[in-house]
Amino acid sequence: MYCVKCGKEYGEKLKRCCCGGRLEKGPPKSYRELVEIYSTWKNVEAGFLKSLLDSSGIESYIHNLYYPSIVPVGTGAVPIKIMVPADDAENRERAEEIIKEHVRNT
Ligand SMILES: [Zn+2]
Repeated sequence: MYCVKCGKEYGEKLKRCCCGGRLEKGPPKSYRELVEIYSTWKNVEAGFLKSLLDSSGIESYIHNLYYPSIVPVGTGAVPIKIMVPADDAENRERAEEIIKEHVRNT
C-alpha cells in the first residue's frame, strides 16, 4: 500500500497515511513534489483554507492533519501544513494570494 499524496509505503492493514493521504495498492501513480505555503496549529483553520482553495479549483494538500492525535504531546509536535505541487507555479501563486487574503482578514 502506498500513500497517494506523499508516496510513503505502508503495510496492508492501514487505510490512511500520517499525512492524511489515502493508501492505495501498487506503486505510487503520481507522486509529486509539494511545497509548503502555510502552516498552522489549528486544524479548523487548515480545513477552512483547504476548502477555500478547493472552491477556487486550486490543487492543495494538508499534511499532518491527524498527526497531533497519534503523537504524545511534547514529543515534537508539528504544525499542520498546507502544501501545493511544486511544479505548478500558477496554482501556487493563486493559492498564496488566497492565503494572504485570509491572513489579512483574521
Ligand atoms: Zn502520506
